[in-house]
Amino acid sequence: MTTSLQTQLIHNAYEPPAGFAAFPTPIHHASTVLFKDVAAMRSGDWKDKNAYTYGLHGTPTTFTLEARLAAIEDGQFCLLAPSGLAAIAMVDFALLKSGDDVLLPDNVYNPNRELGRWLSQDFGVSARYYDPLIGAGIAQLMQPNTRLVWTEAPGSVSMEVPDLPAICAAAHAAGALVALDNTWSAGLALRGFEHGVDIVMQALTKYQSGGSDVLMGAVITRERALNDRLAMAHMRLGMGVSADDAYLVLRGLSSMKLRFEAHDAAARKVAAWLKARPEIARVLHPAFADCPGHAHWKRDFTGAGGLFSVVFDARYSEAQTDRFVDSLALFGIGYSWGGANSLVMPYRMQAMRKAWKDAGILVRFNIGLEDADDLIADLAQGLARL
Ligand SMILES: *Cc1c(COP(=O)(O)O)cnc(C)c1O
Repeated sequence: MTTSLQTQLIHNAYEPPAGFAAFPTPIHHASTVLFKDVAAMRSGDWKDKNAYTYGLHGTPTTFTLEARLAAIEDGQFCLLAPSGLAAIAMVDFALLKSGDDVLLPDNVYNPNRELGRWLSQDFGVSARYYDPLIGAGIAQLMQPNTRLVWTEAPGSVSMEVPDLPAICAAAHAAGALVALDNTWSAGLALRGFEHGVDIVMQALTKYQSGGSDVLMGAVITRERALNDRLAMAHMRLGMGVSADDAYLVLRGLSSMKLRFEAHDAAARKVAAWLKARPEIARVLHPAFADCPGHAHWKRDFTGAGGLFSVVFDARYSEAQTDRFVDSLALFGIGYSWGGANSLVMPYRMQAMRKAWKDAGILVRFNIGLEDADDLIADLAQGLARL
C-alpha cells in the first residue's frame, strides 16, 4: 500500500534489532497497547501481569520494576503509584469504606495523618491515632470495625521503632490488616512480611531512586486476593507512572544496597559525633540506645538508613537552632531523603504531637554520600554559631 508522508511518519518499520542485548531494561512508552486481534483484546485481563491491555495498567518496563520491588521485600505482588503518598492513598481507598475504622501511629508520616483526617471528615471512616510504642497494648484499641492498622518503622521524624510482631498479632486477632510504611529501610534492613505485616508500602522517591529526582511509590503484598483488592483501587483511581520514571528507579536499584550501606555507616558516624556534643540532648537514631524502641530495632532490623534526628538542649531557642541550620554549607534545607546530598530540617514537635515532651528543638538529618568527616566539620562550624 502506498501511503502519504504523513502516514509514513507514523507507520514506520522500526523493530528492535534481533540479537541485541544490553543490561538496561528497555523503556516502553505506551498509552495505547496494541492487541494482535480482537480475540486477544477480549481475553486480556488487565490485572494479569502477563497481559498488556493499556499503558495505565502496565508495560514491560513497569512490570519489570514491580517484580524487582516485590523480590526485594520477599513479596509476590507489587503495584506502582505516582508517589509514596499516592501508594498510601491506594491502600486506604482499597481497604476502607464508610463505617470502617483505621488506626495510625501518632508519629505517622504527616500527609498520611492528613489523609486520615480527610477520610474521617468527609468519608465516614474513623481514623484514630495510637502511641507508636504501644506494642501488644494495641489490642485494647481494636474495634469490631477496625479494618486497617498503619505502622511505620521507624517514624520518620521522631524515629520511634514499633514492636511490629506484637502489633501484627493483636491486629490479626481482631481481624484487621496491617500496612507497613517501610521507606526508612528501603526493604533492605527490615523484612516486613517476616514480622507479620500484610502490606508493605515504599516511597521509591527515597533510596530506590537515589537521585532526588523521581517521585514514585509501591504497594507490595504476598496474597493474590489482597493484591486484587488493591489493584481495583489502583485502576479506579487511575494510578500510573511514567516509563521514564520507572526506568530511573530501575537504574537506581542496582546500586541501592551499596548506597544504603554507605548512608548507614556515615549516619552512625555523624550521629555518634553529635551524641558526644554538649549542645545535643538526645540522638534519635534507632541504632542508638537513646532512641525509643531501640530494642525493637536490635531485634528486627539488620541495618539502618541515613535518616535520624537530634534534640537540642532546651537552653537553645528556635532562633538559635535556625541559625545553626542556615549556617550549614553541605546540608540542603529540604524534605525527603535517600539521595546523594545531605539534608537538614527543623521540626516544631509541640505543634505536631500532643504528647511530645522534649522542650529542645528537634532537627532531622539525612546523611548523604559525602565524606562523613566533611559533614562533621560542617556541623562543628554550625554548632559554633549557636
Ligand atoms: C517520603 C515519604 C512518603 C511519601 O513519598 P512521596 O513520594 O514523597 O509522596 C511516605 N512515607 C514516608 C515515611 C516518607 O518518607
